[in-house]
Amino acid sequence: MVSLRGQNRNEQLHISSCHKVKFMQVYRNYVDGHWTESESGELMYSVNPATGQKVLSSQKSSGNDTKAAIDASGEVYERLQWRDDPSARAKALWRLAEKMRGNVKELATLMTLENGKLLRDSQGELLGTIDILEFYAGLARAVYGRSVNLSPTSMSVLLREPLGVVGVIVPWNGPMILMIRSLAPALAAGNVALVKPASITSGVTMEFAKMVDATEEIPKGVINFITGPGGIVGEEMAENPKVNMISFTGDSGTGKRIMEKASSHLKKVSLELGGKSPNVILEDADYTKAVRGAITGAAFRYASQICYAGTRLLVQSTVHEKMKNEITQIVRGMKVGDGMRNDTEIPPVVSEAQMERVLSFIETGKEHAELVTGGRRLKDEQFSRGYFVEPTIFDRVAPESPLAQQEIFGPVLSIIPFGDDDDAVRIANQSHYGLAAAIWTNDVNRAWRLAKRIKAGTVWINTYGNIRAPAEFPGYKESGLGTMLGLEGLLECTQMKNINFEIG
Ligand code: NDP
Repeated sequence: MVSLRGQNRNEQLHISSCHKVKFMQVYRNYVDGHWTESESGELMYSVNPATGQKVLSSQKSSGNDTKAAIDASGEVYERLQWRDDPSARAKALWRLAEKMRGNVKELATLMTLENGKLLRDSQGELLGTIDILEFYAGLARAVYGRSVNLSPTSMSVLLREPLGVVGVIVPWNGPMILMIRSLAPALAAGNVALVKPASITSGVTMEFAKMVDATEEIPKGVINFITGPGGIVGEEMAENPKVNMISFTGDSGTGKRIMEKASSHLKKVSLELGGKSPNVILEDADYTKAVRGAITGAAFRYASQICYAGTRLLVQSTVHEKMKNEITQIVRGMKVGDGMRNDTEIPPVVSEAQMERVLSFIETGKEHAELVTGGRRLKDEQFSRGYFVEPTIFDRVAPESPLAQQEIFGPVLSIIPFGDDDDAVRIANQSHYGLAAAIWTNDVNRAWRLAKRIKAGTVWINTYGNIRAPAEFPGYKESGLGTMLGLEGLLECTQMKNINFEIG
């Protein structure tokens, strides 16, 4: 049995060894070090995608609740020395990372219960989260500015100051790592933060809030959490002039909406949005590695609910038929099931609505491509209450069709054969997204030429999905604005100030 500490002793969550929730935990908001309920007292629920069972509940906060949380965050920023004390910030982030490391099992269990991903991937996400936290803990004492002489008697000093209150809005598919990617650099730079998790994965985020509360080195009010619908809580955060920056990960349409709201006060925004990444296999690639890379890239192990998933598989015509057959055979053998089971290789999709959306893409896809395998909802007894979709492969997909253009966020791979390198580049760039791409080849010159021509924020060569804290993860076109991760991710969370000296 896993026992997760509640906000008081009466609110312990018990998950039995067969992962049945014994009674419902009710999470409250966490603002300025206090646990608070929403003004209406209304709650929202997260549902286990493998069973359809309600898991946890959290506050359905209102616009007024959000305004109060923003006001409190702003007061904390003015009141505390946090913004001027990099050593204290570094220590606080290290301590929080330590606390998380001691709670990986509990957080991972809850993450899988809420969003369905494989338990081992939830654990992997948490280790990645801790790594990012530690990276920015190190950088908290390295928020360097610059100086330059302007004339014999004048000099400019460029400071990097914190912005104030940073609003962090998080999606459900990576509730911890995508939160920390925004939160850690904001804190390292000296800001305070207000976090709004995705409504359907609020539980794991609020469990993390308890760890923040229990970390003495983090001053109360520096990290605040509020749960509630994006259209209310998220929009208030985007529009409210007391929030100085929004750091957002999610759908491109939501990103545009946030930008529109933020524009009323010209608020800074950092947006990591959707993708439909091309995974390009050239005929001279290492065949075995490329086959593995096609399956890893498609992210079937996450039911392809990953923004950078390589769900457009571009294969050179000379190897296309053979490779398609081999990939299909491997994918057919992959075991779909509950993410809690050790032998599961493909988990359910996150919700009933998402499942219906994926199935409707598959239906219309049949008009534009050859269905090679999959294409159905799984309904046998073991799957009957969950949201399981068979891993699906389409071949000879028209590059302009919805299958190749839309972010499906479900286990659907579209194979597109191509002739030569120009053809590959043209199809790869035929997208309104530009988050990531990969190229599989043994010819380093060819790899370099193609990588330069493909419009994507990250281009992997002979690998897929290698995302690490020190390397920026920007996006072209509708995949994003600004960047997260790396040194640039830290600088995004700062305000530049030029102090200009005349020396008499
Ligand atoms: P959404 O954009 O719907 O939601 C993301 C967050 O935004 C949630 O917290 C949501 O709240 C909130 N939100 C929703 N509407 C608004 C609004 N009008 N104003 C402010 N906030 C709002 O995306 P999903 O959670 O459905 O995530 C999947 C999408 O995110 C995919 O398109 C995927 O590609 C993209 N994504 C991009 C990543 C990247 O790195 N580029 C990484 C991961 C996902 P609520 O939950 O209450 O609706």
